[in-house]
Amino acid sequence: MEPVLKIVDVEKSFGDFRAVTGVNLEIGRGEFLAIMGSSGSGKSTLLRMIAGLEAPTKGDILLNGRSTRGLAPHERDTPMVWQSLALFPFLNVVENVEFGLKMRGVPAAERRRRALSWLERLEIGRFADRAIDELSGGQRQRVALARALVTEPPVLLLDEPLSALDAHLSVRMQAVLTNLQRELGITFIYVTHSHSEAFAMADRVVIMSEGRVEQIGAPKEIYLRPSTRFVAEFLGSNNIFTGRPEKGADGGGYLRTGDGLLKLPADADPALFDGEVDLIVSADRIVLGGPSQANSLPCRLIGEEFVGASVNLYLETEGGRDLVVQMPQRQLDGLSLQRGAAIGASWSDADGHVIRATS
Ligand code: ADP
Ligand code: MG
Repeated sequence: MEPVLKIVDVEKSFGDFRAVTGVNLEIGRGEFLAIMGSSGSGKSTLLRMIAGLEAPTKGDILLNGRSTRGLAPHERDTPMVWQSLALFPFLNVVENVEFGLKMRGVPAAERRRRALSWLERLEIGRFADRAIDELSGGQRQRVALARALVTEPPVLLLDEPLSALDAHLSVRMQAVLTNLQRELGITFIYVTHSHSEAFAMADRVVIMSEGRVEQIGAPKEIYLRPSTRFVAEFLGSNNIFTGRPEKGADGGGYLRTGDGLLKLPADADPALFDGEVDLIVSADRIVLGGPSQANSLPCRLIGEEFVGASVNLYLETEGGRDLVVQMPQRQLDGLSLQRGAAIGASWSDADGHVIRATS
């Protein structure tokens, strides 16, 4: 099926600064795509180009197979919801929602009816006549969504829409958004800095760095198989060992490190073995004090950090490198570890992931 949106070699420069460069993406009808990346990586600029608020310096953006070059925002049906919401303070709730229909010349009675039905759908029908400044943050969020959806666009662009909400409300709005997206079959392109939002909601995740797409894939694929060191570090809680692979007596690949030889996964690409590689081991794949697995390093406990129901343990290996291990809090209780205590950390070679080392 034809992608609803096709981004072809898109670049955006401000003066001689390239904010977005070499971006190629195809986004399917009804897909939920999340875009992540550090601050300044070009996420908003990319979204603004899709919305028609900025023109690409190079390349093109096709909507339903047609170039959007020269099309104003209201001519392309790709509305945007911002963190700041940008509601009109001088219009009440229902007038805000009607606005897009008014711009399109929809008659008054019909636009009122359609706006009210969207307010009902988002469970804020009773606030139709309120002023915007009489609403809570979550209610305003719903008004902004209704305003964007009232024209029933094929694509909705969302730029960190939940980041101003508290954690509880944000989780509730995540559910509202995913349900709406499934029901309506609208394509969502959702910029967020929150890993949990992106990984919970999206069909595919794009990771951007310095204006480029570093990786695009299903959440699980990105999590299990980061394709670059940037992605592995961006996701956090990954351990990265760098070195030159060699063949062991058993025919398998090994990495020589300051902590001895580490066994590489059997599916590591042999084509990478002619140079340095990064071996990536996710913090939640390492077991402490358990039966020894293929890779086992004697360590000391340096510190711990509680992150909700799980805990990050910071260790130092005998070779002097840092290691982070993540486990559920309950599991830590069973270990009764003292700071400075010696403990073995081990993982199965199959849980490692090997990429070519960069610089
Ligand atoms: P993100 O949303 O990923 O944080 P942005 O797309 O907002 O990043 O910005 C990417 C880069 O482009 C940043 O360095 C930003 O300062 C720059 N930039 C964005 N808009 C403009 C503009 N209108 N003029 C000059 N530089 C800009
Ligand atoms: Mg931004």
